[in-house]
Amino acid sequence: MSERHWATITVSSRNLLAELRQQDFELLRSTVRSLGPERWSVDALLSREQIEQLTGQGHRVFVKRAMVETLARTTQDIQVNIASLDDIPSDGYLSVAAIEQAIDLLVEKYPSLCQIDKLPHATHEQRKSRYLRVGSKSGGGPKPAWLLLGGAHARELVNPDLLLFFVHSLCKAYTTGEDLVLGAQRYDAASIQRLLNEMELLVFPLVNPDGRAYVLNGNTMWRKNRNPNPGMFCEGVDINRNFGFLWSSGIGTSDNSCSDVFRGTEAFSEPETQNVRHLIQDNPQLQCVVDVHSYSELIMYPWGDDDSQDHQEDMNFHNPAYDGKRGVLGDTAYREYLSKEDLEWYLRVGRQVQTGIEAVRGRVYTLGPSADLYPTTGTAGDYPYAHGIESGRDKPLYSLTIETGREFQPPLDEARQIILEVSSGLAAMGLALLSSS
Ligand SMILES: [Zn+2]
Repeated sequence: MSERHWATITVSSRNLLAELRQQDFELLRSTVRSLGPERWSVDALLSREQIEQLTGQGHRVFVKRAMVETLARTTQDIQVNIASLDDIPSDGYLSVAAIEQAIDLLVEKYPSLCQIDKLPHATHEQRKSRYLRVGSKSGGGPKPAWLLLGGAHARELVNPDLLLFFVHSLCKAYTTGEDLVLGAQRYDAASIQRLLNEMELLVFPLVNPDGRAYVLNGNTMWRKNRNPNPGMFCEGVDINRNFGFLWSSGIGTSDNSCSDVFRGTEAFSEPETQNVRHLIQDNPQLQCVVDVHSYSELIMYPWGDDDSQDHQEDMNFHNPAYDGKRGVLGDTAYREYLSKEDLEWYLRVGRQVQTGIEAVRGRVYTLGPSADLYPTTGTAGDYPYAHGIESGRDKPLYSLTIETGREFQPPLDEARQIILEVSSGLAAMGLALLSSS
């Protein structure tokens, strides 16, 4: 692959962003910003030729960093211990093996709070995936639960480490009775104990282990899994375009195997998405799923395929009468139904996450609907919520996406700050769920 540069493109209309996307420029969707009525910007990974092409078309391109492929961060393949979990990342981002070690270590250290569940589908490189169930074993019957997912996109290195740090922090506060202190924010131990007594937290820290291993082997900007895509030109499926939510619409996804948003050959064609589906369907007590990505400091709620509306219930994703009409922002031909009550839930809980994050060092994450960036489908940001609606559950299964930090692989000092602030946002979220469950 030719060298790529990390750049910001400025264009004169939002439609031009969609056009660039269709030309398979690798736009980083979470970075879309409105700079005014006639000015939009988006970050991208671009070759020298693409930069020339774009400037030739009259767009402004500002190169933030030349040659992202040479970005290297040290990785930690040494023995992980509980002390090092206090200080993640200590010497570097965790390797795939170190993440698995950390999972084992948490269960060893906190046997009354943590247990491991295995997922059924081995990855293309034959890695087995596991997740943690975190909560006291007290009381009968399944407790209301929430699920955190990380590491679906390989190059987004901070988030698996973050989720393991978060589990460790909660267990430590629970066990020692000491307050959970995250930067300038503090959660009293009694609240954390209530959270782990009354709810169960499921954590699948590394959805895409093959991809992470590939990134840590020097392919630093790899995003997808490692499916060899037999009979096709390029490797890898974008896990976060492979979920069964309007998958066949093609909105915001690609059928080109070389694209970074290649959606795969069918919905749930990939072991990684099958594992997440299994986890969700196996745990009907789940109330909420949070998929943690990088980057852009965002908290996003459904829908991703189009704008939403709250008055026409039959204008929705499972009504085939609207096939072909979805995915255009700003029009009234189609807007996805989102009930007033659910929007209120998303705004209320989203604000709690936002406040929890801001309390650590003042970073303000933007809360908004996913489609505000540009429309997309097949994501873990919509699938759980849509699945809850389609399966006729009593209570909604809410889903949120958090985009952490301001780059894919921040220097370790900055990664530590991101881990603290987002852990605080997640703790605030847990307490919000607790008070409403
Ligand atoms: Zn991502």
